[in-house]
Amino acid sequence: MPTTDDYRTGKIVEGIKKAEMVLDSRSALAAGDPAFERIREKIVAFRPVWVTAEQAVELIRRAEVIAIGERVCRALHPDSPETQSVFLDELAEAMVDANKAEVITVPEAMQIINRQSPHRIITSMVSGKYLELCAAWPPDCVFCKAERVGIRCIGVRQDFRI
Ligand code: SF4
Repeated sequence: MPTTDDYRTGKIVEGIKKAEMVLDSRSALAAGDPAFERIREKIVAFRPVWVTAEQAVELIRRAEVIAIGERVCRALHPDSPETQSVFLDELAEAMVDANKAEVITVPEAMQIINRQSPHRIITSMVSGKYLELCAAWPPDCVFCKAERVGIRCIGVRQDFRI
């Protein structure tokens, strides 16, 4: 399971990089390849879900600490559009401690969600809770890449319960 410490230390970016290497070479891998299966397990552990702007706002309202920072996978795709992620509670604290995010208020977070990408927000589980709201960029998003090679990992809004 991904942890707040993985985000704080940047280990998460290394993990995404390895996953992308495997997913990008999927056509070269045999079905059931152990490397592919390991990546599948790691990706599914995030339990990513597309959420509506309303669901994102509800998660924000329930949080005690909110921070904003660059979406973590952009480090691997510097030419991709600049979009930000909202981090909540323990993850927000960890990212602020690591100088990777800034604390913001509820109205500011709501404004960012509504302005950036109300139709493509992914929330994912970190340390067992939904603590990350990302304005995902599908061409580079590791979850979207996984879906494209047949790993069903992204849940749908209708099934998401806060
Ligand atoms: S675009 Fe996808 S992989 Fe990148 S930070 Fe957002 S949710 Fe994670």
